[in-house]
Amino acid sequence: MTSITHHIPEDLLIAYAAGNLAPAFALAVATHVSMCDECRARLGAHEELGGALIEEEAEAEVSDDLKARVWDALDAPLVPEKTYARSGIFPAPVMEALGGLPPKWKSLGLGVRQMILSYGPTGSARLLYIPGGMGVPDHGHNGLELTLVLQGAFRDETGRYGVGDLEVATGDLEHEPVAEDGPACICLAATDASLRFRSFIPRLLQPIFRI
Ligand code: ZN
Ligand code: ZN
Repeated sequence: MTSITHHIPEDLLIAYAAGNLAPAFALAVATHVSMCDECRARLGAHEELGGALIEEEAEAEVSDDLKARVWDALDAPLVPEKTYARSGIFPAPVMEALGGLPPKWKSLGLGVRQMILSYGPTGSARLLYIPGGMGVPDHGHNGLELTLVLQGAFRDETGRYGVGDLEVATGDLEHEPVAEDGPACICLAATDASLRFRSFIPRLLQPIFRI
């Protein structure tokens, strides 16, 4: 069992419990929760609280007609959703995003690889593969970036991140994550805006690789 030291901040967990997170961030949070007993328990508490609030509101405001329709909808047979189990280092939520298939890596050069899981106006989610000792170019953030370690570990200006650890980087952080020596560091990264690279070449590549 690995020891997770970087957890989901409270505001993100509350937003997730309320269904208010963009899909890319929700994927990162769901994946951390699937790896972390502590955050699973915290989420459970929030969901209980949220459920209680919804019930109270339903009592107060929702008409009988709407209630009946909601119950009918709940009774309707659900379209069976395909679910995936954890496979290797990839937890179930990541396997779902992969459609049950192994990742199709694209090279970014110098051994660094990525696979884009989703890309859209509300943000993007990708898997990153960084060989031991290699770094992700120094960059700042236009918005929020969540990075969850699935294999190996990386370090940056803010500390060390091992398997299960979630780094939350916001607009004011400039960092240069470097994978620790040893097995490649594989991360799930979610962003709501493109990264700002300081050096010229990554900036040049940015539109091509959609970093
Ligand atoms: Zn946690
Ligand atoms: Zn970053």
